Amino acid sequence: MEKKTMKAAVLEEFKKELVIKEIPIPVPKRGEVLIKVRASGLCGTDLHIQDGRLPTIKLPYVPGHETAGEVWAIGEDVEGFEIGDRVIVAIDILCNTCRFCTTGRGNLCVNLTRLGFERDGGHQEYMIAPATNLLKFNDKVPFEKAAIIPDAVACMYHAIKNQAQVRATDRICILGVGGLGFQGIQIAKHFGAEVFCTSRNDEKLETAKKFGADHIINTSKQDLYEYIKDATSGEMCDAVFDNIGISSSIQTGLDICRPGGKVIIVGYSEDTFQAELQSTAMKEKEIIGIRGSNRRDLVETIRLVEKGIIDPYIYKTYALEDINLALEELKEGKSLGRTVLVM
Ligand SMILES: [Zn+2]
Ligand SMILES: [Zn+2]
Repeated sequence: MEKKTMKAAVLEEFKKELVIKEIPIPVPKRGEVLIKVRASGLCGTDLHIQDGRLPTIKLPYVPGHETAGEVWAIGEDVEGFEIGDRVIVAIDILCNTCRFCTTGRGNLCVNLTRLGFERDGGHQEYMIAPATNLLKFNDKVPFEKAAIIPDAVACMYHAIKNQAQVRATDRICILGVGGLGFQGIQIAKHFGAEVFCTSRNDEKLETAKKFGADHIINTSKQDLYEYIKDATSGEMCDAVFDNIGISSSIQTGLDICRPGGKVIIVGYSEDTFQAELQSTAMKEKEIIGIRGSNRRDLVETIRLVEKGIIDPYIYKTYALEDINLALEELKEGKSLGRTVLVM
């Protein structure tokens, strides 16, 4: 008999563990596809969601916004997909009519809803998504690596390519290298940049080196400013990616970037930051935000992963049933890269 129910990790109450439940497998409506989830990535944002920090989230629901799987059933009026297609799920459901959607910046859509946020996501065995959110990838890419493309990989790609416009003459620094940074190194190298990475954890820095970082700096032992000054003959960095996002890290970024250089805000652990006004103004330094990525970035990152130019780095995999353990490790900072649930 055909399977009618599935396991899902349901968030029923904020600040509580997720509950593994047996729930009905949904049926795709018009324009939708049912995906058999093969891999679902965990993100720091999952912790913020669990803590109740995201006001748009209504309970109960199934989180998970880094999903890869197979097309399992197809609703009416869906073209271009076949049963068994390997797909990743774009997070953002766009209105396609607002000023941002119509000018190629759908990541800023004012009517945005998101899979894994306002709608059920991938921490379950089957998931519904609009067909327009699916992007195919080839069978050279394992599901667990594909799963982190929509968030960890594409978001760094958008930051590096569009927001910082990194090119081969550039020196860039990733502050707080980790789950996103390991992907960022490979992307920046692809554009030809010289890459500096910082962390207080030697194991993370060794991983950074494995993925092509030219310089690794342990900021608990070394003076970052002096290191960069020496290594660049005083020219400093063209772009700094702040993947830490605490009150002081933007200024750290400004200190190590050249006149006219850019600091890109990737992480946001704290609500505000402090920065020197005069030196920022007089040196024409820029502070730039990023949010997610656009469809074009997703398509480009998939191609780069398929060609082996980007190798999405997974630190650890878990079974769906062990999601609370995996989230606990993430919370305690024990995860030294991306964690993925594998179904
Ligand atoms: Zn995320
Ligand atoms: Zn829109």
